[in-house]
Amino acid sequence: MTKLVILGGGVAGLSAWRRARAAGHDVTLVERCPRTGGLTRSIHVGGYTFDYTGHFLHLAATAHPSLLGDGDPDHWKQVTRRAGCLVDGVVVPAPFQYHLGALPEPVRAACIDGVRHLLSGVAPARPERGEDLLSYFVRAFGPGVTAHFLKPYNEKLLATDLTRLSAERLNRFFPAPDPVAVAAGLAGGEGGGGTYNATFWYPQGDGIGRLVDQLAPDAPHAHATVTAVEPDRRVVIADGRELPYTHLISTIPLPDLLTACGGARAALAPRLSASGVAAFQLGVGGPPAPLLRDLHWLYVADPSLSFFRVGCYSNVSAALAPPGCHSLYVEVGVPAEVTSGPPTGRPFAGRPGSQHPFEGAALTDRVLADLARAGLLDPGRVEVLLRHVIAPAYVHFDFAWEQVVPAALADLAACGIHCAGRYGRWDYVGMEDAILGAAAAVDALPG
Ligand SMILES: Cc1cc2nc3c(=O)[nH]c(=O)nc-3n(C[C@H](O)[C@H](O)[C@H](O)COP(=O)(O)OP(=O)(O)OC[C@H]3O[C@@H](n4cnc5c(N)ncnc54)[C@H](O)[C@@H]3O)c2cc1C
Repeated sequence: MTKLVILGGGVAGLSAWRRARAAGHDVTLVERCPRTGGLTRSIHVGGYTFDYTGHFLHLAATAHPSLLGDGDPDHWKQVTRRAGCLVDGVVVPAPFQYHLGALPEPVRAACIDGVRHLLSGVAPARPERGEDLLSYFVRAFGPGVTAHFLKPYNEKLLATDLTRLSAERLNRFFPAPDPVAVAAGLAGGEGGGGTYNATFWYPQGDGIGRLVDQLAPDAPHAHATVTAVEPDRRVVIADGRELPYTHLISTIPLPDLLTACGGARAALAPRLSASGVAAFQLGVGGPPAPLLRDLHWLYVADPSLSFFRVGCYSNVSAALAPPGCHSLYVEVGVPAEVTSGPPTGRPFAGRPGSQHPFEGAALTDRVLADLARAGLLDPGRVEVLLRHVIAPAYVHFDFAWEQVVPAALADLAACGIHCAGRYGRWDYVGMEDAILGAAAAVDALPG
């Protein structure tokens, strides 16, 4: 019988476990947290249900979320996305570039100026080999859209200099602008581009943790951190146990796996970078602020505000907050140099004595003050406040990524180590892809 060891018990690891058990493999799952689920977990506090920051299930290849596990179809509802962008105190519909007509002046005039070429029939720009993301934004979307939204928003989200990033590699997230949608948005209408990810799925009466429950609620796991992956097909875990394997499926972050392998592979790890997210969960008395109205989330590009996104869980599902209250998630991008250290989910306490603006109580105070200044929160009504750091959160598709990641994944696979999941493959994928990709990795195991 094949001896399979799976590293990491997020949705990717659980999906691999489920598939491997069904195929009759002898499986051991290793997860460093007491609970499985990774980023797809929910927390219940004081009558509120919070996710590990906003997690909404967008399906592309699966007809219904219940098919991703043993789910009851009635436990899910399909929701039409309501997202906006906060610009100079005004909420305009998202995506920004397809609603230019709704922008306040003088932002509107500056943005329109830069898209005239699209309206006059010039073909939209496509990324060129070696082009950086910022240069591509200016060429494709114009200087106005870049300066007022794409640059400040993505600098906050990715917490890095956009000239480090490869436009070609990121093209699937920033496709060339659709001239028809730009023109429709200028006229105040909803262009075709406005329908991107137009719907998502969410559990009825519960948080996104329901997905884990239906995927593999009873997956037994060795609760330990992986410390070494030896060349003779043994995994060493923190309690000293050694787990021999025929095949290894790793869903832990690729830099951590490379480090655990040691030698030349470990030397590759520092070349990979990602931003983190400091995530705040707030339970608040009363209805949401008028600016949030019935929105699910709001993109915030203004560089003077600390967060890049604010979402309202209870606008997605009223069951997530007690009657008469609402619940928010607030996300702040954290640079790689701050996040290299605390593992995913560790309370974001910061290093003792740190004066770093992203650490300690200073960030919480700043986030609350910024929410109040932006008109999104009355801090006096906060009933519950949780915060944690997600690290890594957003992989940096920089020029080193192209040199390191594909070759490293191929080298590992040749030695029976198969990587899956968002961080295992050092990629940018959502929950559906993580689940399906990990199951496919099991199907593809030789022998
Ligand atoms: C801010 C943010 C918002 C997101 N929003 C959405 C969304 O709305 N919709 C969507 O579809 N996707 C969203 N995602 C993506 C989604 O979270 C991922 O696609 C999915 O959680 C990936 O699952 P995974 O199992 O690959 O990774 P993870 O959930 O990170 O699981 C990895 C597991 O490995 C464990 N682990 C790590 N290192 C070790 C070690 N050394 N030893 C043992 N165990 C270890 C971890 O504890 C964790 O449980 C979002 C991601 C972020 C960061």
